[in-house]
Parts: sequence; structure tokens; C-alpha cells
Amino acid sequence: MVATMQSGALVSDSVVNEMVKERLSEADAARGFILDGFPRTLDQAENLGEWLKGRGIREVVIHLAVDYNVIIARLTGRRQCPRCGTLYNVSSHPPRVEGVCDLDGEALIVREDDKEAVIRGRLDAYERQTRPVLEYFRTAGRRVVEVDASTDSPEAVHRKICQMMESA
Ligand SMILES: [Zn+2]
Repeated sequence: MVATMQSGALVSDSVVNEMVKERLSEADAARGFILDGFPRTLDQAENLGEWLKGRGIREVVIHLAVDYNVIIARLTGRRQCPRCGTLYNVSSHPPRVEGVCDLDGEALIVREDDKEAVIRGRLDAYERQTRPVLEYFRTAGRRVVEVDASTDSPEAVHRKICQMMESA
């Protein structure tokens, strides 16, 4: 399995499902846990749902909705220093001199996974694989909390989530 992960190939749902359940069975998860970015496929969602039900665990699904144009603008605006690794953003956190690292003067680069075509590919994968998971939660009568995360700061989004969890 380690070999599969290192080769970059996608790990099958059944392997992921078993890993997640094993981890969630550990003592530190006994009073609750947050899963970020899981489940991503229908198979994972159904499998997890059965497992939670069997243990009487109630779940809340939090959907952070961000407009695709906002995602693309955020990610394509990222710049990184190839020498020290510092991250910048042309709109929200620009370097003092355009295209140059504040710390060491190195020319900033766009990382491969921040290129627009790569980002669009990931958004397509989300639409194909993960959007149906959200529909599944909705139609299965699960509690789904929708949070608009397009424009607010991370702190404001956190406050919104807490408020909606309290009223859910
Ligand atoms: Zn630097």
C-alpha cells in the first residue's frame, strides 16, 4: 500500500475506507472527529455512513461553497520563492517588489499545481466525483450545513460554521 501511495496512483476506495475506519477507532476519536476532504466518492460516503450508523455516531456535513472563479483567482495568484519556499499572493499578500521574494530577492515562480489548467482539472474531478456525494447526503436526509466561503476571511468562515453548528 505504501508503494501504491508513493507511485502517485490513486488508492482504491476499499483501502481508504479501511484506513479511515481504523484511524477513527483509536481512543482520541472516541468523543468526536472532523474529516476534511473525506469522503470524496459515493462508495466512501456509503461505507462511512454505514459504519457511523452502526456505532450510533451522528454526523453533520459542512459544505464550504466557493465560487469557482474565486478559487481560480486565489490559486493562480499564488507565487512561491523557489529558494526559501515563502508563499505570496499577487492580490492578497503581494511581495514588496513585484515578482521578487522579500526575504532573499529570488525571482518568484508559479508552482505546477497552481497553473490554471491543473486547477481546472481538479475542479472537473470534484464535479464528477464529489458533487454526487453532496447530493447523496442531501437526499439521504443527513444534516448538511451550507457555508458560503467565497469572500470572507478564514476567521469569519470559522465563526459562521460555529453559529450554524449550534443552530443545527
Ligand atoms: Zn525567498
